[in-house]
Amino acid sequence: MISLITEVEGSSCRSPGGEGDEKDGKDALPVVGDELAFHQYANLGFIYTAGGTVNAVNNHGSSRISWVISTNSSSSSSQRRRLLKLRPAAHHLFVNRDKELSTRQIWEAIRPEAPKVVWHHLVWFVGRIPKYCIILWMVILDRLPTRIRLLRMGFAIDNDKCLLCNLESETRNHLFFECDYAGNLWKAILQLCGVNRRASHWDGELAWATHCFKGKSLITRVLKLALSSHVYWIWKERNDRLFGGVPRPWSTILEDVKAVVRIRLRGCSINVADPRNATLCASWNIA
Ligand SMILES: [Zn+2]
Repeated sequence: MISLITEVEGSSCRSPGGEGDEKDGKDALPVVGDELAFHQYANLGFIYTAGGTVNAVNNHGSSRISWVISTNSSSSSSQRRRLLKLRPAAHHLFVNRDKELSTRQIWEAIRPEAPKVVWHHLVWFVGRIPKYCIILWMVILDRLPTRIRLLRMGFAIDNDKCLLCNLESETRNHLFFECDYAGNLWKAILQLCGVNRRASHWDGELAWATHCFKGKSLITRVLKLALSSHVYWIWKERNDRLFGGVPRPWSTILEDVKAVVRIRLRGCSINVADPRNATLCASWNIA
């Protein structure tokens, strides 16, 4: 159901498909998505969606119209409040404007701004693999549902042991570097990069990567891809075991990491005349 929920300003109060507003209603018919998304409508304004709610901001003269699609989702009301809060922040973009807006401009206008975190280049870099970097981002923020975290959240779990070694409690810090399984994998990855370094604790590895994985050299690109791959594949292996999958040795996971890095860098411009790059390509089978 589409319902008119408010008139922001102006004298008319129109509903989609209503008299004198057929074109507006038709063009503003919503695209419902689970993610917050914006859809630019030439000469009309824009429509944004979130969690099944849709808000269309139209800009004909002085009238702006907003609709929300009713949903049965429990998050509907909170999403609606969020959307309504966003509207004033975007209003100025549509005042006396003769050029079309891009979704980037709208996003830049309404997004909350905060200082860059020191590790941003480990997560958001050119050539990243989005689903890997999302997991890495969540790990850095300690938002993955590890067993210890679930216990802290009040879930009744009868076993808090790490699914990879079954020896220690499953915390973020243990799972990704301190566990022997993960430590061996990370050590092998570093050796492929020509780095002889023993994996330390989570904070130590993150600080080291933050400091060292800078620039655009091949080794940096490989290390950043390998870090996100390491975290992704460790979490996947953990989940596979949780849901009854056959445990795989870390050496098999290493082959997956190598394949991902190799495929990602295939076709990239690499100066193989540099002996360090040539060695790296040979280690990772990068053509
Ligand atoms: Zn473990």
